[in-house]
Amino acid sequence: MLQRVELGQLRLDAYREIIGDEAVEAILRAAAPLRGLRVLHVNATAFGGGVAEILGTLVPLMADVGLEAEWRIIEGSDAFFEVTKACHNGLQGMDLPFTAEMQATWRQYNALNARWFEGEFDVVVVHDPQPLGLLSFTEGRGARHWVWRCHIDTSEPNPAYWDFFKPYIEGYRAVIFTMREYVGPGVEASRVHVIPPSIDPLSPKNRPVAFATARQAMVRFGIDQARPVALQVSRFDPWKDQLGVIDAYREAKETEEGLQLALIGSLASDDPEAGRYLGRVRERAGGDPDIHIYQNLPSEEVAAFQAGSDVVLQKSLREGFGLTVSETLWKGRPVIGGRAGGIPLQIIDGENGFLVTTVAECADRILYLVRHPRGAELMGRAGREHVRRNFVITRLLADYLELFGALMQVGEANGREAGAEAPTG
Ligand code: UDP
Repeated sequence: MLQRVELGQLRLDAYREIIGDEAVEAILRAAAPLRGLRVLHVNATAFGGGVAEILGTLVPLMADVGLEAEWRIIEGSDAFFEVTKACHNGLQGMDLPFTAEMQATWRQYNALNARWFEGEFDVVVVHDPQPLGLLSFTEGRGARHWVWRCHIDTSEPNPAYWDFFKPYIEGYRAVIFTMREYVGPGVEASRVHVIPPSIDPLSPKNRPVAFATARQAMVRFGIDQARPVALQVSRFDPWKDQLGVIDAYREAKETEEGLQLALIGSLASDDPEAGRYLGRVRERAGGDPDIHIYQNLPSEEVAAFQAGSDVVLQKSLREGFGLTVSETLWKGRPVIGGRAGGIPLQIIDGENGFLVTTVAECADRILYLVRHPRGAELMGRAGREHVRRNFVITRLLADYLELFGALMQVGEANGREAGAEAPTG
């Protein structure tokens, strides 16, 4: 069987203080008829990136409200993950080849993982393109409903990739996208569900830390707490534009000489391209002692940087959602974000941060936030409220429960039509 990701326990009740009694009760009501529902989430990695971050909380919460929820990951070789990284980029529109050999590698590993797929489930949620072929290669064995959860923007895909993947997508009863604008060409509207991701306000990464405490914690990483700090937390990836961040920092530093830049990045196991891009980032940093590059920091340290930096950036050129934005807003810090993907859902320009397109704009906003700490604080407060209302993990849980409820109803109706016995549980 596919490798299971072991998770701790979480209690929905713990979120009551944040989301209120009514929201908790609504979730419990939606979950009651789904008690015992066997749900499997499958993705490619247990660490690094937003999907792993979400599943680590979502799956235990599903279990807490009575579902039999589990999370498993597929296996792949370095060659497979090279290919899936290209698929990720190609589906987001990058101009790059998709050779017959690459396609064969993707098929080969999906077929292998399909062979390892065991168990009986009511719903399997397959995340992103890496394991997308599981449904096709298992021929649907082992699950009543298959859902594809696409975390990326497929609105303008490279046709070589889209034409290859589209038939695999078409097998799924439901497909979830972060935004309606992300839905790729020709996906049948009736199967599309729009569900933005969300953050766990109670995870070690998002627990409140006071600005001063956070700042103190940054000192042992070589940060001078007396001088302003700009930060970006992202996988090392061209779409995240760490190179542009360095350029914007340099431009701002011409005016604000004391400015420091912290780049925190992870090297996920399914992302072989990251190491190469990190090399380019280091090169662009060019030994500047005020640019600090960190890899694979523990969550608590990432949190300290998010809470304690004067300016937090997410200058993505393309983005799925950009969880780092909500994580930072939740800590009461405004964010300067690229006008890309799900970032404008989270940043209301001028209210809880700024949306930027160019390096010059970005530099200008960095200077503004460094020079207006009180304004930054107020924007941060507005950001926290925006996240509380829209991007807390319990909202995601509620959306999934609604989808599962709808799927089970459709399933039961079909069963009755076909004269099958009503499904139990
Ligand atoms: N992250 C982290 N350490 C890093 C880089 C990223 O913990 O060095 C986390 C980050 O806090 C966020 C997730 O990884 O929770 C990245 O999700 P996001 O949606 O921003 O981007 P993705 O990687 O999914 O494109």
